[in-house]
Amino acid sequence: EKQELLKLLHSDTVSKDGKRVELGGNIGNPKDAQKAHESGAEGIGLYRTEFLYMDRTALPSEEEQFEAYKAVLEIMGKRPVVIRTLDIGGDKELPYMNLPKEMNPFLGYRAIRICLDQKEIFKTQLRALLRASVYGNLKIMYPMISSLEEVRAANGIMEEVKQELKQEGKEWASDIEVGIMIEIPAAAVISDILAKEVDFFSIGTNDLIQYTTAVDRMNEKIAHLYNPFNPAVLRLIKLVIDNGHKAGKWVGMCGEVAGDKRLIPLLLGMGLDEFSMSAGAILHARKQIQSLSYEEMKTLADQVLQLGTAEEIEKLLCR
Ligand code: PEP
Ligand code: MG
Repeated sequence: EKQELLKLLHSDTVSKDGKRVELGGNIGNPKDAQKAHESGAEGIGLYRTEFLYMDRTALPSEEEQFEAYKAVLEIMGKRPVVIRTLDIGGDKELPYMNLPKEMNPFLGYRAIRICLDQKEIFKTQLRALLRASVYGNLKIMYPMISSLEEVRAANGIMEEVKQELKQEGKEWASDIEVGIMIEIPAAAVISDILAKEVDFFSIGTNDLIQYTTAVDRMNEKIAHLYNPFNPAVLRLIKLVIDNGHKAGKWVGMCGEVAGDKRLIPLLLGMGLDEFSMSAGAILHARKQIQSLSYEEMKTLADQVLQLGTAEEIEKLLCR
């Protein structure tokens, strides 16, 4: 079977009836990028930059970040690389930042909220990203967006950084797409509005499931309630894809659901443009998608979206 899969390394991800999608890799460092590249990734759909900040005693310098981002961009060449800005907080702690102890860390001071509050940290990262952009096909993504104001504030800081770089005579690519993660229900609900001010969406199902169903993704006691087949979650996913497309924007997914063979047919039918997953899942997903009919999956998606329980949905998808 391994030999069979390896034959797909350089083939396109196209359904039986010609619908093309992109398969990306989820990575945490440049070494992972090499692995994703060798595993058939057509791009990087999620670079979790927080790993650069973890397991150390101080913030990474601009230079250190620049080198890491440049390395990933060079490995991927012309292929798209979505680098997510810092997503710290929640379950990911940084002792040296003295983040406050919180009653509900997942509902607290994390990700873009920290970056908009501690602007210098954010600006250092954006400087490194912009400077690295000339080495490949960079797309920048903001995590944990819950409002239009946050998108505008983040873009405002990006503009400031560009002005600074310009004054220093430093260069960046002129065509960098800037997108957001859709992983908070509030963002999904206003995704028609958000779509007009960003270049792409990437749906983060790990958090979207948690926040939509009020089920802490780390809590073992309620793990049985954390369910990717939940009809409310699936309806939100469809809404986000449709709203992105209405504004002419591409929509990807980088949560665990994107690499789940039980849900890939549904996502294909819903019109998802990009699926980003761990390196080991990529060739399996390509093989699966090449065996599916997009038209049939559209019909399947319509059926699924009429169902009221996760159990019924799972039954239909896992026949
Ligand atoms: C997600 O929430 O689905 C996601 C991809 O981000 P993370 O798992 O890093 O929170
Ligand atoms: Mg997330």
